[in-house]
Amino acid sequence: MAEKILAKDKLEGFLGALRQSHEVFAPAMVEGKVAWAPVEGAEGLLWEFANSEMSPKDFFFPQTECMMRFVNKADDPQGMIMQAEPLLNKQRALLNIRPCDAKAFQVLDLIFIQDEMTNDIYWRDKREKTVLIGLACNDPCPTCFCTSVNCGPHHETGLDLLLVDLGDKFLVKVLTDKGEALTKDLPAAGAEEAKAASALKAKAEAQITAKVGMDKVNAAEVMPLYELPLWDRVMENCLNCGTCTFCCPTCHCFDIQDETSGEAGRRVRNWDYCMSWLFTMHGTGHNPRGAKKDRVRQRFMHKFKYIPMKRGGEIGCVGCGRCVQLCPVNIDVRAVVNQMNG
Ligand code: SF4
Ligand code: SF4
Repeated sequence: MAEKILAKDKLEGFLGALRQSHEVFAPAMVEGKVAWAPVEGAEGLLWEFANSEMSPKDFFFPQTECMMRFVNKADDPQGMIMQAEPLLNKQRALLNIRPCDAKAFQVLDLIFIQDEMTNDIYWRDKREKTVLIGLACNDPCPTCFCTSVNCGPHHETGLDLLLVDLGDKFLVKVLTDKGEALTKDLPAAGAEEAKAASALKAKAEAQITAKVGMDKVNAAEVMPLYELPLWDRVMENCLNCGTCTFCCPTCHCFDIQDETSGEAGRRVRNWDYCMSWLFTMHGTGHNPRGAKKDRVRQRFMHKFKYIPMKRGGEIGCVGCGRCVQLCPVNIDVRAVVNQMNG
């Protein structure tokens, strides 16, 4: 892995070259909130910010996504005509993505791209055409706990490049061939710069004091966790509002619907959430998670037990802290998991 230097006074040129081949997006201040926005140049880019309120998962898994369109004319001898939705027609770059959000995409790759039968073209096409340029967190938020869930403020998994802000320049860690192609003209970093980046990493990791224990959850059988009295207490407080799932970079429940108008229509998939009573309703009218407790428990069991069991130990949470910040009744995932862990 090469380490290079991008001086801040060369940033405009770097972005100009990047924008010739990629549509570039980055966190920006939008109506008083940090949100993802198109990048026109270096001006307006944020270098010190808490993470965006909503995760960038909608670049790959939009809130509403058209999967195909159809026309069904009663007198057409061809019958119903279905047309695939066009794939992405340009390369994209997500600049200054936080390491936790990049790690989340790799977790979701394990869900959307599993084998020949489960190989989601809509997800995969966007992933293949998007380069991820991370910005290391030098000043994590009090709600972050990435270091407890196989991630960290300078984590590299899932990124093509990782920028570490050294003041008047960035140390650029080149992590993939895609990243190498974008940085081939940058000078190599020296030992002093590498040392400064390592010191920032250690300082940021030390700043994350919230700890979540997973050892007993990992070792436990499913049923003892499933039957914990804890779920009655969490259920009492939870509103089932879904806020925690919509802001979460790893939540990925969806519902597919056909929207029709006359003889034409489109098939869309929309974000849904496991806390919703309707989400698990079967066509028969039976609901296997008919009680609120079943649905609340599912969110935590899925992320911290079922995904690790089925996906080689990977955890369905990257510790971004968004749900901790946004839950209207202050349900803290860290406290819930620590109680699961006994
Ligand atoms: S569960 Fe909460 S802390 Fe974990 S990734 Fe989702 S939003 Fe972030
Ligand atoms: S944000 Fe809080 S209240 Fe709303 S569904 Fe999630 S845990 Fe429940």
